[in-house]
Amino acid sequence: MNSKELKGFAVDAGATVARIADLDRLRGIETMPPDLLDGFRYAVSLAVALSGSIMETITDRPTPIYASHYLRVNALLDETALKVTRYIEERGARAMPLPASQTLDEERNVSYLSHKAVAVAAGIGWQGKSLLTVSPDYGPRIRLVTVLTDADLVSDEPLKNRCGGCTKCTDACPAGAIKNVNTDSHYASRDEALHFERCVRHVREVCARMENIGASICGVCIKVCPWGAKKREAA
Ligand code: SF4
Ligand code: SF4
Repeated sequence: MNSKELKGFAVDAGATVARIADLDRLRGIETMPPDLLDGFRYAVSLAVALSGSIMETITDRPTPIYASHYLRVNALLDETALKVTRYIEERGARAMPLPASQTLDEERNVSYLSHKAVAVAAGIGWQGKSLLTVSPDYGPRIRLVTVLTDADLVSDEPLKNRCGGCTKCTDACPAGAIKNVNTDSHYASRDEALHFERCVRHVREVCARMENIGASICGVCIKVCPWGAKKREAA
């Protein structure tokens, strides 16, 4: 299957960025169920950019318009992943779209697999100190989805970490959850980068205070990253 044409189709179908991860880079990653990746060779990682204007409404907490936007972008990701699945299947290969946002274990806050880890392996961005995937073009102002496939494809290369000495997300996090630890490629566990329980507690508390928000969100570390604000400044 022609990888360039597949990625072009994904962008026409709604993705802002589409890249391909070799699953050999992700063997050993936690998945639910544990054999989720068996029989697949690649993951198509799709990103949809968040609206810069909506991200700018966030100060130290999420806003109702960000909550609505977040849900709408998730819906677009799921729809795009479905179209990419159909494209692959029509060409005779297997494809499995994983939901953009479906928590399988509320206590541990885990899903089928980490879309962020797939996006880092595909070179959509590097893993920032906030654990977010930081795209050179959109910063962490993206949301992600994954399609697993056994199609014969050519994978993309991961990017180098460019967080450097930046501490903006660490300084802004209202929960004091980001440890300001850098990594060359990826963290061994999320606890290496975050006091994860502080982040989860904060998100639950802040969302419980907002009426009908319908999503578990915060957005502060996404908003403050200079790589995400870059596009707006350049305009
Ligand atoms: S989502 Fe909010 S609480 Fe969690 S790390 Fe980011 S800024 Fe901190
Ligand atoms: S705010 Fe700075 S340290 Fe945090 S993810 Fe962005 S570039 Fe990296």
